[in-house]
Formats: sequence, structure tokens, C-alpha cells
Amino acid sequence: MRENIEVRARKAIEQLKPYSPGKPIWEVQRELGLERVIKLASNENPLGPSPKAVEAMQAALTELHRYPDAQTLDLKQTLATHYDLSPEQVLVTNGGDELITLVSEAFLEADDEIIVPSPTFSEYAFGAQIMDAKIVVAHLKADFQYDSEAILTAVTDRTKIVYLCSPNNPTGTFLPRTELKHILDSLPEQVLVVLDAAYSHYATDEHYSDGTEFVRAGYPLLILRTFSKIYGLAGIRIGFGIAHPSIIQNILKVKEPFNVNALAQTAAAAAVGDAEHVQRSQTLVFAERERFYKALETLGCSFTVSMSNFVLVEMGEKSAVIYEELMARGIIVRHGKTWGLPHHLRITIGTPDENECFLKALSDILDTGNMHA
Ligand SMILES: *Cc1c(COP(=O)(O)O)cnc(C)c1O
Repeated sequence: MRENIEVRARKAIEQLKPYSPGKPIWEVQRELGLERVIKLASNENPLGPSPKAVEAMQAALTELHRYPDAQTLDLKQTLATHYDLSPEQVLVTNGGDELITLVSEAFLEADDEIIVPSPTFSEYAFGAQIMDAKIVVAHLKADFQYDSEAILTAVTDRTKIVYLCSPNNPTGTFLPRTELKHILDSLPEQVLVVLDAAYSHYATDEHYSDGTEFVRAGYPLLILRTFSKIYGLAGIRIGFGIAHPSIIQNILKVKEPFNVNALAQTAAAAAVGDAEHVQRSQTLVFAERERFYKALETLGCSFTVSMSNFVLVEMGEKSAVIYEELMARGIIVRHGKTWGLPHHLRITIGTPDENECFLKALSDILDTGNMHA
């Protein structure tokens, strides 16, 4: 191979690093020669996809020579009915991640500013970086609760988008309805608020809002939703947005025609109608979340109470070692260093059996005699 290629990429992407996802199960199996690997790293639904979605996909297989519906009409109608909206307020995308990229492309000029909470999901910053826009950070409070005043003081006349992730990944904390309304009422009219509600099905606090009520009320708000989490369809890539039709219209201008494949469309429509699968998945997380808390307390680990299907645990100086020790035992979790939280681990709530294995392994490791890394 030649030493150098002279073709230069755009300046805006020079500092970008490819996203680093949680390690897949097969990779850990191969690297460590382990038979059983438990993945508690990507907030997936351990119960799998909705059986109704699987059935719908199987029935659609023989039609795969046809292009998918570019307008996702059936699914939009299904979602509109489910959320009591009109189809013009709904936009379907190739995962929630694509929606973030599309919003960035549609709304960000170079040097515009986005405000992001910190720590949070990394894709908001990514969207700004590819557009050469600036990222302004509004830190969460020390206990990881939202700080609305920090967000509002970060606003300048270049602010174009304010991202709010509620429940927030990786902390599991949320923005209460009154604070969300306060932020919406205080922002200048030309600022778009993107509320990422990827984990809203797991939020049990009565003060939680998934934001839909504020879209109905006409605020310049875009809600991001995904089929990757509770619906168990991460592998097929589908998500959606809810907003005022004029916001949707602008995003549609930059969307590729066939961004959402046919299997994903049919699976998602079936999954929305599978209330039983959603309920089973919620029941699992609600019960297991409590068990996590109890076990972590017994082990003397401090954690942040979560409105989501993961728990952020503080492990102190030893957190990297604990991460490696868990990995050596075939348990994949997420180390906090990606979010600037080197003393934390984020653990997805799995099946009762998977959680048992994790808690047992953690208890073993914390028994310092067993720490050999
Ligand atoms: C998982 C996730 C998404 C969307 O993921 P997709 O798989 O692209 O739909 C969006 N926001 C947050 C905070 C997430 O954790």
C-alpha cells in the first residue's frame, strides 16, 4: 500500500472519533473463549423482540424484492393513533440516531450552537460536529439531576438546538414536567428543543413527562423515540420523531427516500400494538431495578436512582479493574470513561438470571481476594 493519500476530509470531521459501542457478545466469546457471555452494556431488552413483530417480519420476507414505503404511511398512522397525534406530526427514521443526524443537517449552520447536558448520550455532539457547529455543555448537578438554570444561562443568540435526554443516558435521572415547561417557556422562540425520550417506558415518577403534551400544545419541540430499547428491535434499526408539522417538513428535506427498511416498518407497527410485550418488559425492569438497589446497598456501592433500564454505579478508583474483572467472567457492562465518569459503571438490567450472575460476580470481585487484574 502507498504511504499517503492526499485526499483531505472536511476540516469539521478532523477531531471526530468513530462511536465505540458496547462490545458484542460474539467478540467477547471469541476473545476469551467463553461459552456464556452476558451483555449488560447497551440497554437492550433482554426478553427479545415482541413475538408479534417477529411474526410480522416473517410474513414480509417474500416481499423483500420491493422497495419499502418511502413515506412509512402505515406505521405513521399507527403511531399517530397510539399517541393521539396526526400523521403529519410523526417522522420515522433509521433508528433514533439517524433522527439526530437529520435534525443536525436540517437545522445547524456552521458556528451555530447546541446546548447539551453533561454527561449524556454522545450522538448530539456528533451531529453538531459533522455540521461544524459548536457544542455548549450544561452540566448536571453533582447528584446528576438536571440543572435548568445552567441550561438557560448557556443560551446565546447562536443557540439553535437544546438537547434534553429524559430519562438521561447514562445517569437514569429525568427532567420533571414543571422544569421542562419552564425551559420551554423561557427559551427564545427560534430555539428547537429536542427531548430524547428513548427510555420513557421505564420512567415511573409521576412528575415525568415524555413531552408529547407539549408538542400537542404547539411548542417548538421534537421528541425522539426508538424501537431499540423496550420494543427489543435494536438490530433492525428504527426510531421516530414527534413534532410540529413544519419541523417535520424541514427534516424530510434531508431524509433519504428509503431510510427505513420494509422489515423494520412492519415490525415496528406490530410492536406498537403488542401491549403485553411492553408490559412484560416493564414489569421485569421495575422489579429487577429494586433488586439491584438492594444488592448494591448490601455491597456498599453507591448508585443513582434510575428511571430507566440501567443503573449508574459508583465504584471509585477500582472501577476500571472491576470492569475488566467482570469482562474476564463473561459479563459485559459499560465503563463510565466515555462520559468522563472514570469511577462509574453503567449496568443494563437483564433477566433475573443474568442479574443474579452479575451481582454474584460483583460480590466476588469486591471480595478483594478475587481481584487479580
Ligand atoms: C439508544 C438510544 C437512542 C436511539 O438509539 P437507536 O438504536 O439509534 O434508535 C437515542 N437516544 C438515547 C439516549 C439512547 O440511549
